[in-house]
Amino acid sequence: MQTIHQTYIDGTFVTPHGTETVEIINPTTERPLARATLADAQDTRRAIAAAKRALPAFAQTTVGERVAMLKRLHAAVLECSDALRDATIEEYGAPVSRATWISHFAAQSFLDAAVTLEAYDFTRVMGTSTVVMEPVGVAALITPWNSTAGSICSKLAMAIAAGCTSVIKPSELSPIQNRIVTEAIHAAGLPAGIVNIVTGRGDVVGAELSTHPDVAKISFTGSTAVGKIIQRAATDTMKRVHLALGGKSPSIILDDADLTKAVPLALNAAFMNNGQACISGSRLLVPERRLAEAIMVVKETVAQMKVGAPADPTTVIGPLANRNQYERIQNYIRLGLAEGATLITGGEGRPAGLEQGYFVKPTVFADVRSEMIIAREEIFGPVLSILTYGSEEEAIDMANDTVFGLHAYVMSSDPARAKAVATRLEAGRVMINTLQHDPLAPFGGFKQSGVGREYGVLGLESYLEAKTLLGVS
Ligand code: NAD
Repeated sequence: MQTIHQTYIDGTFVTPHGTETVEIINPTTERPLARATLADAQDTRRAIAAAKRALPAFAQTTVGERVAMLKRLHAAVLECSDALRDATIEEYGAPVSRATWISHFAAQSFLDAAVTLEAYDFTRVMGTSTVVMEPVGVAALITPWNSTAGSICSKLAMAIAAGCTSVIKPSELSPIQNRIVTEAIHAAGLPAGIVNIVTGRGDVVGAELSTHPDVAKISFTGSTAVGKIIQRAATDTMKRVHLALGGKSPSIILDDADLTKAVPLALNAAFMNNGQACISGSRLLVPERRLAEAIMVVKETVAQMKVGAPADPTTVIGPLANRNQYERIQNYIRLGLAEGATLITGGEGRPAGLEQGYFVKPTVFADVRSEMIIAREEIFGPVLSILTYGSEEEAIDMANDTVFGLHAYVMSSDPARAKAVATRLEAGRVMINTLQHDPLAPFGGFKQSGVGREYGVLGLESYLEAKTLLGVS
């Protein structure tokens, strides 16, 4: 059992003023894994003060200096990628393939930010004016538990690229992953105060960050419910608020698709990261006339997806992250049955042979209608709803019939046709016959899936303010 009793302020590991502790349970064994002491509002204020002190000098650094910092951060996080992978398996339950991907993604995000930074023009002429892009100020980076290292590093990378100092508030449910990332960031040897990391509760540390006058910007990734709380709290001090929120993303299989390819892709979109992914394709839209065929491929494919110990390389779906998540998913499965959906595979309880751990059965419902709760709410676990459509127009309407708009997937044998459908979907990203991420293109949500974009030029600009100089050439 690990004890984590430190927080990172002004370039130093310090004992937090906060005294509340949180116990972390290994989701595979249900045995205690770690106890962490949480930072409080006073720790948060110290971290903000450190970031504020470091800002003037950091904001003046050259692009070359910041690129060098990003490269050092990349090397330091890469150096700890094995430890990060293991912690992501142990603390979170990610299958080893996902845990490996996320630890490399975390490191790579610094190099991706460096590429964007090197190509970015901070000074431009517009009209008769010179427009200078300046760092917005101290940034608060608030991250969720389902992609700990990836969220921390990708946000930090852009803040550094822009010349903003940061106070990071990672999820209180990921203290081991947080500690490893923090040690790597410290090892990169940046000047004190540029990065501060305070692990604590959302309603304590997150709330302080959302209202403190010295925080200029919030970059938040998490649930839509908390995003709304933050947006309201940040209004008085007029912070720049970036929100990356939840989703209920549609996967549309067009009637010309090869189902032996499209259905497995859709199932991977639905169940990636144990179904605990903001971009999970949790609604599958299938042409009515191909439903029976699709169900057959669903059954065959899910039967091949191994649920089990996340460290086992043959595992596709590991345990859910904690008991709350397990109970939440069981409730949604019961709700789906109560709403009259047809269970195709999965269902309540643990998979056979897995009596311990927060394992759930990958579950697929058919005969789901758009008005059902299982088709409307973000479930955040491996539960997929199949809906059917008659015409392509109907498919587009159904896909857009949601308050969310984070992602969508379109599968078709005809890429031009898929692209035409994609252009009509209300979603920040549409993946056509692929699940491949693009780290240099914008990422973010339409509607209640968020405000603003991360990654690439738009991600960098979200940490910048435009200053227009008139009267000089
Ligand atoms: P959450 O909203 O409960 O928590 C996210 C973060 O906000 C945590 O660090 C939490 O401590 C903090 N927080 C909680 N209450 C707060 C408050 N009052 N003020 C400030 N901060 C507060 O989300 P979660 O359960 O950690 O993560 C799952 C959610 O995140 C899902 O809805 C998922 O879709 C979403 N998510 C979105 C993206 C994206 O890029 N759009 C990526 C990953 C996860």
